[in-house]
Amino acid sequence: SHGVQDAGTKSTETKGVETVSDQEQAVLSQVPTGLFIAGEWREARSGARLDVEDPATGKVLTTVADASPEDGMDALAAAVDVQQSWAATPPRERGEVLRRAYEAIMDRIDDLSLVMTLEMGKAIAESRAEINYAAEFFRWFSEEAVRIAGRYSVAPAGGSRLLTMKQPVGPSLFITPWNFPMAMGTRKIGPAVAAGCTMVVKPAAETPLSMLALASILAEAGLPAGVLNVVPTSSAGQVSEPLIRDPRLRKLSFTGSTQVGRKLIEQSAEQVLKVSMELGGNAPFLVFDDADLDAAIEGAFKAKMRNVGEACTAANRFHVHESVAGEFASRLAARLSELRVGRGTEEGVEVGPLINAKQRDGVEDLVGDAVSRGARVLTGGSRTGEAGYFFEPTVLGDVPAEARILAEEVFGPVAPVTTFSSDDEAVSMANNTEYGLVSYVYTKDLERAIRVCERLETGMIGLNAGIVSNVAAPFGGVKASGFGREGGFEGIEEFLETKYVSMALS
Ligand code: NAD
Repeated sequence: SHGVQDAGTKSTETKGVETVSDQEQAVLSQVPTGLFIAGEWREARSGARLDVEDPATGKVLTTVADASPEDGMDALAAAVDVQQSWAATPPRERGEVLRRAYEAIMDRIDDLSLVMTLEMGKAIAESRAEINYAAEFFRWFSEEAVRIAGRYSVAPAGGSRLLTMKQPVGPSLFITPWNFPMAMGTRKIGPAVAAGCTMVVKPAAETPLSMLALASILAEAGLPAGVLNVVPTSSAGQVSEPLIRDPRLRKLSFTGSTQVGRKLIEQSAEQVLKVSMELGGNAPFLVFDDADLDAAIEGAFKAKMRNVGEACTAANRFHVHESVAGEFASRLAARLSELRVGRGTEEGVEVGPLINAKQRDGVEDLVGDAVSRGARVLTGGSRTGEAGYFFEPTVLGDVPAEARILAEEVFGPVAPVTTFSSDDEAVSMANNTEYGLVSYVYTKDLERAIRVCERLETGMIGLNAGIVSNVAAPFGGVKASGFGREGGFEGIEEFLETKYVSMALS
């Protein structure tokens, strides 16, 4: 009914470099593929390269320099070298670099979205949406750079004067995931640049191209050499650990899985490093009996299908009041079954492949587990396509409480639906997870909305809204979803130390 469009028919070889179209090749060839250290593009010291695959075909698109631990230390040294001079740069100048980079990203959005779709898989329209969101962080923080300010007060007993200064925390390490290859970077780079920090970015090995393209845009926008260094690597742990244990590093900001986050928090204890963690989620989507069902279906569609479900904010489980659950599930299934699955570059495709075989197999495993325990497949349910890592948009009804899919992050286009019969039950189901990133609540009753929002243990809530992400708002979680906030007024605070000066007056 919604067959994969030609995924895998591009080439019949089982390995080797993919034949991409001339236009795709022309755009790809513009992207630098070296390490970016101290303002220079260079090979890894070992000369190693790592393959970047097209997840729609499983074939190699290109290769990039593969950093070793020595390259990582070079990048840290470059960031440390310019920290003082960068911190002394006038705030307006730092803001203007971000503003120029914002304009440049928007000027090149067509090429950047093609690169992103090629390496990450999602449909072009979704890549455009991400790049737009990514660029907005530069615009927002370009405006924040000039609003960093401390305080002055008279001590309560009189006499001394109390001054607080806001200063950049210093050289920072950013480790970013493959699911939003640019936005998860700009959300950290934007406030760090605005605050006057220098940085090393280690993008996900699956999607280094978007970050390398971004580095060249920032350099052209006038970011001084050494302020931003980018080190793609196939050995993330070996490259990042020596930096985290190095006393010159002052801040770690990580977006990725809770499992890796825990390890990094342990490592960062050694230097008592300042840390921000944006980790996994297991978002509940609550639909009460008074909800506007049309709005709830549309919100569910967005919360589930944005980024092919590969978002930490993705609705992971749908808890629906028993009086409307049947209708909700069948209407959501109808909506998802209309989607066109295929290579994200193709006209009309709405749902691209998952990032790799491991991710696709994990989704398949969770669906299999739910079905074996009695869940009903209302649409989808299987992998699809001859090549690449495609999975059908799927709705599961009557999912039993013990199904693993309700407890684990599925990170794919699968919507499991279960029922509740009271507000208390809905809230306790929603909170019954180690995660606490986001919840979605659909109700028209204002008092119920407030009471439920107060009781939900998540850092963010979509109230009759299927998407919460906004550059002007504080993004982040509680519990095992991490700590720290990105975006909003809060975002720049993560990159500022508060220093207090007590001044005695005679
Ligand atoms: P991951 O945590 O393995 O990868 C995220 C980043 O951490 C990547 O840059 C990766 O190279 C790096 N990394 C991996 N191991 C590391 C280590 N030992 N030391 C330092 N860095 C390391 O996540 P993933 O494998 O890409 O995805 C797996 C799961 O992570 C997903 O199913 C999902 O639950 C979660 N995830 C969450 C987000 C989010 O935005 N919160 C994003 C991507 C993935």
